Amino acid sequence: MPFAGKGANVVDGVKDLVVKDSKDAKKKDSKPQPTENERLRAAMAGVMERKLFTIPSFKIYGGVAGFFDFGPPGCAVKQNITQLWRQHFILEENMLEVECPAVTPEPVLKASGHVDRFTDFMVTDVVTHDCHRADHLLKAALEAVQADKEQTPEKKEEVEGLLRRIDELDAQQLGAALTAYEVKAPETKNDISPPFNFNLMFRTSIGPKGDLTGFLRPETAQGIFVNFKDLLYYNGGKLPFAAAQIGQSYRNEISPRAGLLRVREFTQAEIEHFVDPDDKSHPKFSSVEDLEPLLYSKALQKDTSKQPEAMSLKEAVKQKIIANETLAYFIGRTYLFLVQVGINPKRLRFRQHLENEMAHYAEDCWDAEIDSTYGWVECVGLADRSAFDLRAHSEASKQPLQAYVAYDKPRDVEKLVAKINKQAIGKSFKKDGKPLLEALEGMKEELKGDKGPLACARDSLSREGRCKISAGGRDFEVTTEMLEIREELQKESGKRFTPSVIEPSFGIGRILYCMFEHTYATRDGSEEKTLFKFKPAVAPLKAAVFPLVQSKELDEVARRISTKLLRAGLANTVDTTGTTIGKRYARTDELGIPFAITVDRDTLDAGDKQGTVTVRERDSTSQVRVPEDDMAELLRRLCFEDMAWKDATSKYKAQDAPSE
Ligand code: AMP
Repeated sequence: MPFAGKGANVVDGVKDLVVKDSKDAKKKDSKPQPTENERLRAAMAGVMERKLFTIPSFKIYGGVAGFFDFGPPGCAVKQNITQLWRQHFILEENMLEVECPAVTPEPVLKASGHVDRFTDFMVTDVVTHDCHRADHLLKAALEAVQADKEQTPEKKEEVEGLLRRIDELDAQQLGAALTAYEVKAPETKNDISPPFNFNLMFRTSIGPKGDLTGFLRPETAQGIFVNFKDLLYYNGGKLPFAAAQIGQSYRNEISPRAGLLRVREFTQAEIEHFVDPDDKSHPKFSSVEDLEPLLYSKALQKDTSKQPEAMSLKEAVKQKIIANETLAYFIGRTYLFLVQVGINPKRLRFRQHLENEMAHYAEDCWDAEIDSTYGWVECVGLADRSAFDLRAHSEASKQPLQAYVAYDKPRDVEKLVAKINKQAIGKSFKKDGKPLLEALEGMKEELKGDKGPLACARDSLSREGRCKISAGGRDFEVTTEMLEIREELQKESGKRFTPSVIEPSFGIGRILYCMFEHTYATRDGSEEKTLFKFKPAVAPLKAAVFPLVQSKELDEVARRISTKLLRAGLANTVDTTGTTIGKRYARTDELGIPFAITVDRDTLDAGDKQGTVTVRERDSTSQVRVPEDDMAELLRRLCFEDMAWKDATSKYKAQDAPSE
């Protein structure tokens, strides 16, 4: 969703802690003391890199800012989140999934507006030619003024006003503000150039001759729009329906910062829900209407003394805070999904776009924002985009992208109808009048909503006695003698229209990163003992299986359990290193593995514990003794939230931590 605001509250001005441009590495060591957030972030980034959750891409060549690799546990966590997304949206909502190429020919992105308008304002350091996002520099300068105790209240008010309008400023206004606040290049303090537009798409050429321009897609949504006609047919011509796509998107961000939050290649999961503009109710709204997410409406944002408020979705639709049921339904489903993957609901809010952030055609937009050490981060954009996208592609491709809905019974509809006087037209335009006659014959339009061409022509005829009609590539001046436009009541059995689209657009990497922050913890207040409290369904591995001591017999049991778990679809690892059990627990904690299974002598020895193993739960560290034969089923239930750990502790005997 390219033009629906730039996530005003996302803090971008924080230096990238993981990947640095080669130039950054040379910068002087004059850093102030890190804040608590920076310290926490650096500690977590250390674990993430050491355990290979993420790796700076092309690291052995020095890395390139804005690109990350996922290592083994990172791939697993990302895959699990993506799978949960597929289950929660595509499968549970019967969506039509598509997979389209990332390389997209120019006409598609010209029609969508990306070629002309998918830009950010850039400035360059006049000496080093380093590039910076103009709005980021201005924002940092304005925030510094805001924080300065010496400044007058008038100055602060001016700054606040400018901060609110920062997304609206054109190049000239932005340039004037940068000059007025004496903004310099952040590291070198050199002068900066005036701001200019920089298109964020990666351009390429298609084919060996290179004569067909293409771009790497900046979003996955366009692939859905261009397939609308076939998808509607696949769906039996019925509305509403939703299509979805999960895939890579590419944006040549000017200054990729903030770790995984602003990168140049990222995974998006996007939904386009096509709906009749006259009926945006949702049949499953009642399943989410009682949810009470934190809503940060336009009205609340405009009053600086107000905070986001928990409100039921039912109430928000009733009070028209959220424009319609379908948009509210997706806000509810998004809330459930984010909480399911491990986002803390108290650190999640839905912020409505202010009028100046929204594209002119959008009816209502909300961002799911997640609190992080970088501030509030826009992780999901939810927008009612009206019929803009389908209309744009229909016009450019000359293909009708419309739907037809049959009424239950025929309706009387008030219409404007063109009544033409062929003789008068023939007399005035002779043979040249043919295209005009063709255009006017049978022309009618509904008397509803925005004025169409007939309504405008009627206004002009009654005001001036004449009007202009375009036909066959020229304008005809038509008089009241030639054309009369009448209102008539006509019977209609259905309507043909361009559907509206409601678009939830997820950035998987941003959700993943915020989930890491929300689940990162230390044990016993020790920074050496870190853990990720991942939800079991998201964890990279569901269990680690340990023989307590190095022994062929115990190894055999451990491997047998591991195989049984794998067959039940539970990824796990066997650790036969024989290091202390404490160290092995610490390793599993760092990877966020929720359960550790230990095989000990009692498992083999004749006695009441024979055939049983211990299971330790990561967050409570409590343990129970479970028959080996129950393991796979118990773990399956625990991992997929059919059963809570406290139920396992009441079903099975508690067990002290094993001693070596
Ligand atoms: P947008 O089309 O700009 O509304 O973006 C849709 C979603 O994609 C956002 O809510 C983010 O989660 C994600 N996103 C956008 N730009 C980036 C980026 N540079 N890096 C990572 N995720 C991004």
